[in-house]
Amino acid sequence: MSNTQDIFFAAVGDVHGNMHSMVRDLKIWEAKTNNQLAFVLQVGDFEPQRQEADLMTTPGPKKYRKLGDFPDFYTGKAVFPWSIWFIAGNHEPYGFLEQMPQGGEVAYNCYYLGRVGSVTLSGLKIVGVSGIYEPKQFHQQRPDVSLISKSSNKKYVGFTEAEIMEAIALSSADILLLHDWPSGIISSTEAQRFGWSDEVGNEYARLLVELLQPKLVLCGHMHQSYRTQLSCPKVVTDICCLANVKQGNQGMPQVGEAIAIFHLSSEGKLVEQSVL
Ligand SMILES: [Zn+2]
Repeated sequence: MSNTQDIFFAAVGDVHGNMHSMVRDLKIWEAKTNNQLAFVLQVGDFEPQRQEADLMTTPGPKKYRKLGDFPDFYTGKAVFPWSIWFIAGNHEPYGFLEQMPQGGEVAYNCYYLGRVGSVTLSGLKIVGVSGIYEPKQFHQQRPDVSLISKSSNKKYVGFTEAEIMEAIALSSADILLLHDWPSGIISSTEAQRFGWSDEVGNEYARLLVELLQPKLVLCGHMHQSYRTQLSCPKVVTDICCLANVKQGNQGMPQVGEAIAIFHLSSEGKLVEQSVL
């Protein structure tokens, strides 16, 4: 049993609508360690589709478009036991999320951080930037959400130069939430080990890490668990890349893969907890 000073929180990789699986595994961690989570951070591809119609405004191949668990939370049939804070990835119901580009509560206890958002939780300044780098969209303005049925859903997945500037203007962060990885955090040999031949990550995510100098960066997108560090002038930044949440994996906890648990000490140190 830990003392009352101890704060634990969770970070979760791409959920893709598997919210029940996410909640179950976080509860398993709480039960096994006799600790309570203060909040949950999520790195995008959360897929909060409220109903079938939201699948129509979700980018991605049609065969993968299926309604996940979110309607249960949206209608109150199920409740998130902790506050969930998420950014958008590249597979989201943009017809829904773009109605609140500044973010907002999408279900009880579940908050979208917006295109660029910031929140302070347990004294930690969390900054989130939604979307991925899409060269064609970067210097443009996104079409208004009212036009989404007439334009390609893909036009809503990229972050813009203006949004990167907005995030930089936040000047600092303790934790930075990104969907895709910052560039240059994995060697080509290691990338090959995961079966990747292309360059991983993007330079704008990297720029945000260098300028905001967070203690911790959380990202997803590649569906691969990976840990590394980046040395910035004032801080050594821990980079935690998370795998995707899988549905019904027979009660095997996904801690260490799709889920990471962090301990915040009273001195403000963030340490990832080892696998159960
Ligand atoms: Zn994903």
